[in-house]
Amino acid sequence: MSMPSEQQMRAAIAARDSALDGQFYYGVVTTGVFCQPSCSSRAARPENLRFFRTIEAAMLAGFRPCKRCQSIERLSQVERLVKVARYIEQHADERLTLTDLAGQALLSPSRLQRVFKQAFGVSPKAYQDAIRMQHFKQSLKAGDDVTDAIYASGFGSLSRVYGEPGRNIGMTPKVYRAGGAGETISYACRNTALGLMVMAATDKGVCFVQFGDDEEVLVSQLAQEFPNAGLSPSDAQQSPELDAWMAALDQHISQGAPRPELPLDIRGTAFQVRVWQFLLSVREGEVLSYSELAEGIDKPKAVRAVASACGKNRIGVLIPCHRVLRSDGSLGGYRWGLERKRALLDAERGRNT
Ligand SMILES: [Zn+2]
Repeated sequence: MSMPSEQQMRAAIAARDSALDGQFYYGVVTTGVFCQPSCSSRAARPENLRFFRTIEAAMLAGFRPCKRCQSIERLSQVERLVKVARYIEQHADERLTLTDLAGQALLSPSRLQRVFKQAFGVSPKAYQDAIRMQHFKQSLKAGDDVTDAIYASGFGSLSRVYGEPGRNIGMTPKVYRAGGAGETISYACRNTALGLMVMAATDKGVCFVQFGDDEEVLVSQLAQEFPNAGLSPSDAQQSPELDAWMAALDQHISQGAPRPELPLDIRGTAFQVRVWQFLLSVREGEVLSYSELAEGIDKPKAVRAVASACGKNRIGVLIPCHRVLRSDGSLGGYRWGLERKRALLDAERGRNT
């Protein structure tokens, strides 16, 4: 379930409309308290509002529940669950049993399993694995060798890491650290309404879409992003799939066809991947600010880091970083130039009004 648009949320709060209760919560930065849309408390200044889809997200972001509009019984359980989640974050490299965690939450193990999953979308074990995976990738990036990184992040064995589904890391750890060593990446160029486009793909999907004026420059950027991969220029005969993907994206850009659902090979730090995956959920015709994006991934203070992750997006248009604006509504930056950002947004607005 996605959140209502910011406009709808602001309108519901202004009208104290109970129809959207449960669909989102809003925090007030000056008081540190969060409320339901229908709450009768005094109106806050619009610039001080922050929006959250769930109570849990609001609390993880550090807001306290409003006593006026939220039931205390429900909240005390949420508070306990947030404590369990924090405990897992702080002890991710240790062996944590469901029984121990359940004891902290004053729940039975099976009940903890169920309500934790309801609250956060994953089991306590999967949450711990995700935190470990994050630590693991950070220590790989920091230059630890694979074995040290595995033990430092608490995985205990190689098979646990390699056994993680590809969605977590996309490549085996060695390949991740080695900048694509041993891989072959096919690429091709084409003219679009946004200028020259280079698209490149691994056998998992599109890993690179960039725009520019000069083919050589674009290909050298590709080589910089994947310094150790083998790059193979591919014409339509050699790589019919890539050719079809290029054509589909070009039709989207140049003729307003729907954005194609192409397989993506998304690579980056855990934080960047989170930002980019969130962007995939932003629908055409919608825009959001860098701070809303930071809130969307439950890192409300990481606005600069979020903006920098947007700037490092390697897969232009398909990961729609062009839909992120400054909070004053100005365009902000764009890796491929503001003219292109404006053209993309104008086209999307045109198709959605
Ligand atoms: Zn309230």
